Amino acid sequence: MTGATPDRRRFLTAGAAVLGAAASAQLWLPTAARAAENPLPDGVFSLGVASGDPLPDGIVLWTRLAPDPLNGGGMPDSAVAVEWELAEDERFRKTARRGVAQARPEYGHSVHVDVRGLRPGRTYWYRFRAGGRLSPTGRTRTAPHPHRKGGSLRVALASCQNWQHGYFTPYADMLAQDPDFVLFVGDYIYESTPSATAVRRHEGTGEPYTLEQYRNRYAQYRSDPDLAAMHANAPWVVTFDDHEVDNDWAGEIPQDPGKQPHDAFVARLAAAFQAYYEHMPVRATAIPDGPHIRMHRRLEFGHLARLNVLDTRQFRSDQATGQAGAQDPSMTMLGADQKEWLLDGLRDSPARWNIIASQIMMAETDLQLGEGKLWYYDAWDGYQAERNALMAEFTRIRNPVVLSGDRHLTMISDLKEDFADPGSDVVGAEFVGTSISSNGDQDQAAFHAQWDPLMADNPHWKVIDAHRGYHLFDIRRDGIDARVRIVDTVLGPQAAASTLATLRVESDEPGVRVV
Ligand code: FE
Ligand code: CA
Repeated sequence: MTGATPDRRRFLTAGAAVLGAAASAQLWLPTAARAAENPLPDGVFSLGVASGDPLPDGIVLWTRLAPDPLNGGGMPDSAVAVEWELAEDERFRKTARRGVAQARPEYGHSVHVDVRGLRPGRTYWYRFRAGGRLSPTGRTRTAPHPHRKGGSLRVALASCQNWQHGYFTPYADMLAQDPDFVLFVGDYIYESTPSATAVRRHEGTGEPYTLEQYRNRYAQYRSDPDLAAMHANAPWVVTFDDHEVDNDWAGEIPQDPGKQPHDAFVARLAAAFQAYYEHMPVRATAIPDGPHIRMHRRLEFGHLARLNVLDTRQFRSDQATGQAGAQDPSMTMLGADQKEWLLDGLRDSPARWNIIASQIMMAETDLQLGEGKLWYYDAWDGYQAERNALMAEFTRIRNPVVLSGDRHLTMISDLKEDFADPGSDVVGAEFVGTSISSNGDQDQAAFHAQWDPLMADNPHWKVIDAHRGYHLFDIRRDGIDARVRIVDTVLGPQAAASTLATLRVESDEPGVRVV
């Protein structure tokens, strides 16, 4: 596709100078195709562009045609040809790859292009064109060469963006920090009902259950300008947690089984997964099969880092309801297949850093002051046997680092071989990356009054905090430098960002320390 065809020459001469003008972009398509093309309305690219799951030689490019994004999309019930182009420069003078993809109604007119044949560790620019309209330009980056040992990788860890709790202001700062990729570990949308008293109100009239309702919810979230800009400026690696479907769901069990019969919940899962796929820059391996979706996967960043992205929702046992149940050895978080897949990937890893993206917190949270323990049963604490077996495994794994979300707090911990024994070995580090907006602007004094006394019960905690924001990691061979980036508010569209804490994980020295 990189040859200097007549088409390409025409594009190169006419396209660059007037970027954004549909007239010039028409030269992009052969005459016959142009004649067959029906014009699409203004705003067909209102959901922006995104990219994801970088490989050394490939990247997924994403867009979705939706001129009426909050009302089902507003597209005709037919497939539409979408041209895409990826270039080595911002002005699209040097095209690397291009082609035509089909935006199909059965996928909400989303487009997922799995581009291959690219150069490793390189920045590219991309854009789409359909129906005489040109998309915004996106920027993305491939993963480093598979044999590369050195270099550095900058990763931003984000999760939990509740539209009704605030504006997604941390992304404006993240954009300025220019990460190589964004790791999003769940709660991309919240399924909650619109609230009249919220900072920003959810669309619709209730919780989403149908495909169209989920589509509308995702479309609303994508209209946040900071989120859209972050998607357009770096690739994302995503996984879902509970709120992409239903609070605290587990396998095929909803939060309130009394309110949602099994068949209805399975239909809801299928709709939620379908909409998730349609809106995320993920490969075709993530196309759902009814109420099933494959999201656990591995990505390699040279010999520097291996990223294991987990699915801690779909294969888990239903949550325990007490301390004894949490210790039942039959409780599983990953399911047998995913657990085997994870262990294989950790044991055989050639990487310096073995990163695990876990939606939910892995380190212990003991909520019982003094004698005795009280856990959250939705987190890894509720699945003691499997978590503890994983901690034992970590003693034999090089540099395991867990990146999590869900808690709506920054919680940075040493991982212990045995949390019941404060004297046991440290086997790894965990960063729970607060939230983009969920829980809004918290009262910090109230948070610390409640949580600081628990530090004695949880001596593995290094930093706990309740500001909104994200974590930023500079990963190198000798260590990881981490920064907790926070914003002063999510109650308006603008915020000031700062570094709350700086931490360091040394290679081959398990654990994390505050710098
Ligand atoms: Fe959340
Ligand atoms: Ca205790």
